[in-house]
Parts: sequence; C-alpha cells; structure tokens
Amino acid sequence: MALVVQKYGGSSVATVEKLRGVAARVAARRRAGDEVVVVVSAMGQTTDELLALARQVSPAPPRRELDMLLSAGERIAMALLAMALHEEGVEAKSFTGSQAGILTDEAHAAARIVEVRPVRVREELARGRVVIVAGYQGVSREKEVTTLGRGGSDTTAVALAAALGADCEIYSDVAGVFTADPRVVPAARRLPELGYEEMQELARAGARVLNAQAVEFARDRGIAIRARSTFGGSEETVVAARPAPGGVAGVAAAAAVALFELPERALPAARALLAGHGARELGLSAAGGHAALCLSLEDVHAPEALARDLAGAGAVEIGGRGIGALSAVGRGAGEPRVAAAVQEVLLGLGEPPMALFTGPLRVTACCGAARLPEAARKLHARLLE
Ligand code: ASP
Ligand code: MG
Repeated sequence: MALVVQKYGGSSVATVEKLRGVAARVAARRRAGDEVVVVVSAMGQTTDELLALARQVSPAPPRRELDMLLSAGERIAMALLAMALHEEGVEAKSFTGSQAGILTDEAHAAARIVEVRPVRVREELARGRVVIVAGYQGVSREKEVTTLGRGGSDTTAVALAAALGADCEIYSDVAGVFTADPRVVPAARRLPELGYEEMQELARAGARVLNAQAVEFARDRGIAIRARSTFGGSEETVVAARPAPGGVAGVAAAAAVALFELPERALPAARALLAGHGARELGLSAAGGHAALCLSLEDVHAPEALARDLAGAGAVEIGGRGIGALSAVGRGAGEPRVAAAVQEVLLGLGEPPMALFTGPLRVTACCGAARLPEAARKLHARLLE
C-alpha cells in the first residue's frame, strides 16, 4: 500500500465529464489499495475568468480581495470532485488549503508556503477516505486566505507530498515535460528525466508544465515529481536530482514581461519593491553603473502601480507593454553559440532583442511578444532538432 499525492490541473477537470473521468481514475487507485490525496486546480479557465471579473470592477484590485476571489475557483473544483467520488462509491472529503494546514507568508497573490500541518488530512486518510485538497491556496499567520501565484496547485501537491512522506504525481494535458511547449512547438520531444535546476529554470522562463516554486520545494525536500498526462499512457517525466548534462535541455517563452533600466545603485531599493507587487525577476544584469531588470508580470495584478513605484526608485520602463521573453535552458546556455542563436532567431523575425541575460543554466532575451510562438519554434529547430 502506497501513499500518493496526485495533482490534476485545470484542463483535466475542465468539464463535468472530465471531472468524472478523474474521479474514476482516483477511485480505481483507491480500490487497488493505495491511500490517495488529490490536489485539484480550478476548472478550465476559471482563474482567468475570475481575474477578468476583478478587472471589470477595479484596474488595481487589492491583493487580499483578489485572493478571496481567486481561491474560490479551486474550492468549486474540490467540492465537485468529492461529489463525483461519492458517485463512484468511494468515500472522500474535500478541504480548503487552510483546512489542510497549508501555512503561507503574507504575500497575497504570490504567497510562499512556509509550513504544512496536514492534521485533518492524516485523520481522514486513517479513516480510509480519499482526501481532496484545493490547490493554489493557503492561510497566513494572520488567518488571511492567500494564493500561491499562477500555477500554484503544483506547489500545494509537492508541499503535501513532502509533509506526508508521499509520492507526488502531477497530471496535466501533456505527457510530461517537453523540450518546448508541444502545443506551440510540434517538434518538441518529451524528456524522460530532468534535474531540479533545469526544470526550475524552464519554469521561471515561462514553461507552464510545472510551477517554479513547486520544483524549488521538491528540490529542497528531495521529492521526485512524476509529470504525466491525465488522459492515459505510461509516458512521464521524472524530475529529480540529476546533474545537468551539457547542451540545451529546452526552450521556453513568457508573454507577460516588463523591462526596466536603472542606475546600479538603485537596484536594492527597486528589488525590495518587487515582492509586494508579485513581480518575479526573470533577468538581471549590471555593468558600468547601469542595470537592466526583466520582470515576469504573471502574478502582478496592477502593473501601472508597479511601474510607478519603480519609477520612484529611479527605474525607467523600456518598451512598454507587449513585451515577452525567449529563453534557452541547460548547461549549454552559457555558450556563446546559444546566445547567438537566440539573437539571430529574433533578428530574423524582425524582433531585435531589447536586452539579453545570461546565467549558468539559462539565456533569456526580452523582445516584442507578438511573434514569440514562431520564435520558440525557430529556436527549437536551431538548438534541438
Ligand atoms: N488555478 C490556478 C491558476 O490557474 C492555479 C493552478 O492552476 O495551479 O493559475
Ligand atoms: Mg499548472
């Protein structure tokens, strides 16, 4: 008998029919004798729809209230999945993140898990029940509901697996981690295994298949993540401790990005502002007194307020909105030929890079976002085909 945490993404529970399919899979696993905790995301595009609703009411919604709103998506999915399991004849109980003991810091809409106390989860498992936990959410020490940033249900699953000593399986509509998003780059190949560090860089660079904070958590706790498709097949990617081989592991693109230039001495003040807005660093370079800072806006819900605060710290926004980032990830990312390939691909598409950031495992170029899918296909062809 094994204890397993299974996470199902939004596309896996997008309709009642798909939700029933997930319930049938979970029921079969339970009947086979395993103890099962299911972490579930909001159905389909629910989170995007809730965000759009918030924007109709306010261009800069308070982040606390956003969390009250966004956490509702997973709450709907967890209750419906529990009902579907009852229909399968399997006893199940659903819990919010707070009830499941997911404790976070206070950073609304981009919170980090600080501790997991799964007391009620353990109790229900001991009663033979399947436990369903709402992904992407927790509770702060001030008893406020928080959410973990987009894609955060993965982090819930890894954190629970670590706390329970369980295996961790992450199900989505793709059969693992690919050398690029297979929905954008048809030539992308599945990677049978991948090290934590490379996966983290891919996630940071915009690969949506696994969340960066989830991978960081898995690395720190030594949890292997098995990424698989909900819709069958034994294919998977195992993300675990593996030394990064040479070369390029994958390419990724991020659409919601902002680029700032600022005096190097203003960097500490500027960086101190980021967390409060949910902004994440995608690239940073400093030379000769000047610095460039590339930010992911995925969890920024009031970009004008972020730009205003950064301007106050002496930063100038370059290129405005509609910027994206194209990245290549792997130990080879530090080689000049890889940076050159990124530059040439973007130049060839008439989207000259506005800034280039190189690190040991990733090279990232900021560019206009309009032709990113094409850029990803071309870069993949150059580096991985
Ligand atoms: N529902 C949230 C999102 O769309 C969290 C998740 O899916 O992991 O980002
Ligand atoms: Mg996801």
